[in-house]
Amino acid sequence: MSSQLLVPVAELLRRPGSHRELSIQVEVDGLATSDAAVHGPVDLQLHLESVVSGLEVSGSLAAGWRGSCRRCLETIEQTVQQELREMFGSAPADDETYLITDGEVDLTSMVRDCLVLALPIAPLCSEDCAGPAPDDYPMNKPEISAEDRPRDPRWAALDALRTGQ
Ligand SMILES: [Zn+2]
Repeated sequence: MSSQLLVPVAELLRRPGSHRELSIQVEVDGLATSDAAVHGPVDLQLHLESVVSGLEVSGSLAAGWRGSCRRCLETIEQTVQQELREMFGSAPADDETYLITDGEVDLTSMVRDCLVLALPIAPLCSEDCAGPAPDDYPMNKPEISAEDRPRDPRWAALDALRTGQ
């Protein structure tokens, strides 16, 4: 990941209440779930604010992703935008806090964590995607009930056995 995500914050931390806007575009590599992969640069619009307990980072990030429709398997390319609000601290406080190291924050983990959550699970090319072969395998029709289903021919042999007894 890009070194643009390594942000010096020592000045900010010296003056609680001070803040800084950060607007960057970075390339991320290999960021994907089983259903979608980030594709192209990630846009970050962040607000860094020095607070008593450390640094609060809020804002949003936007990225393009590419995946396959779970019904028709067509490639989908869309964008996702995700709001975030995270804490950075000098000492590990809890699992929710990222670390400030040597007066710098590395936003890489935050960006990755946030994007993985934002990527869609089982994406569809459109809400009413009809699937790969709508005539043969209609996706949007209700299930055929058991009574309407043609009887399995194998049962006929069993019926014949029964009547023969
Ligand atoms: Zn589809």
